[in-house]
Amino acid sequence: MNSSISTQVLIIGCGPAGSAAAIYCAQHGLSTVIIDSLEFPRERPGETFHPGMEPLLKQLGVAQKVNEAGFLRHQGNWVKWEDEGKFIPFGADESGNWQGFQAWRADFDSILLNRAREVGVTILQPCQAKKLIVEKNRVIGADTSAGCIHADVVIDAAGSRHWLARQLGMEIIPHSPRLTAYYGYAEGECPARDKIPAIVADEKGWTWTAKVKPQLYQWTRLFFQRSHLETNWIPQELIGLTPKGNTRKADVTWRTASAPAGTGYFLVGDAATVLDPASSHGVLKALMSGIMAGHLVTQVQQQGYQENLAAEAYCKWVGEWFKQDVIKLREFYGKLPSSNIFHYS
Ligand SMILES: Cc1cc2nc3c(=O)[nH]c(=O)nc-3n(C[C@H](O)[C@H](O)[C@H](O)COP(=O)(O)OP(=O)(O)OC[C@H]3O[C@@H](n4cnc5c(N)ncnc54)[C@H](O)[C@@H]3O)c2cc1C
Repeated sequence: MNSSISTQVLIIGCGPAGSAAAIYCAQHGLSTVIIDSLEFPRERPGETFHPGMEPLLKQLGVAQKVNEAGFLRHQGNWVKWEDEGKFIPFGADESGNWQGFQAWRADFDSILLNRAREVGVTILQPCQAKKLIVEKNRVIGADTSAGCIHADVVIDAAGSRHWLARQLGMEIIPHSPRLTAYYGYAEGECPARDKIPAIVADEKGWTWTAKVKPQLYQWTRLFFQRSHLETNWIPQELIGLTPKGNTRKADVTWRTASAPAGTGYFLVGDAATVLDPASSHGVLKALMSGIMAGHLVTQVQQQGYQENLAAEAYCKWVGEWFKQDVIKLREFYGKLPSSNIFHYS
């Protein structure tokens, strides 16, 4: 196909960050196109959701669908870090204990994308962004596998490869040594993991295990020093279960794009900042940054808010949040004498 489309907002990537931005923009009357190089359902890691997501799900109009999906709920995590290990609850208020979700990402991402469709977003899948279109230092769209898409603003939600930042030659600033997370799935029964996920540190790294569906468990392994995982490795507590699919890996070096917003663009979710999964709120951050970018785009398009001020406000907001996360994660890793992550500067 070699057509040309014009829209107010073009969003690249249909993950939680992109879908949240798309829903917000369309709910506020902006013409919105979202594209993804993959057809859904597609697998993504990141199934453990912090309870802080609930108000965001309500705002996006998907709370009921998420509740009806029957995802497993949990009241906290088992954490064995510098000590013997303890259950750390999320917290509670007058309505009861806060509960996180163990959501199968393919199902969760489809709920968000269906909502985007419902509020009038144009969804193109599969459609890959190939080249950014820039005119007079302004991002004005993208050349895609479905032709050129021109837009007043482009939101990059294409994930941790920093597509738009790299197209602009932007610096991606590391804040940790290089970190790789290995992850995989195993089928069977592991009653110890049925109620709460666990993160367990040892002298070489940490292992995360969680139940994500009936009879399906996810594990993640991260080493403090550069290291390779042995073939067919599986966490101790999942031995005896049947591995499902191959072990995969992801670059989870803490990093941030140097300019998360600029003339004609915003970066949301992992496209803007990445932390390792011990931060445990990548999906929450994706939703929140998508909503925030959508809000600022709406202010510019409909309320006459100055674009440069919106970009400045967004960069400050993303930068502050990331800085606080890095401080907290360094404190967390600093409790482990064998972790070198704490010492990185
Ligand atoms: C091993 C591991 C475990 C994790 N565990 C957790 C967890 O338990 N809880 C949690 O909250 N977070 C977790 N995370 C983090 C979480 O996975 C991410 O923060 C989250 O997926 C980011 O969402 P996103 O929308 O920014 O990007 P993504 O979900 O990565 O979506 C990006 C989309 O963009 C599309 N795309 C990419 N390039 C293009 C292109 N050129 N054109 C068109 N489309 C494109 C992709 O196909 C994809 O659908 C984990 C991460 C890892 C690696």
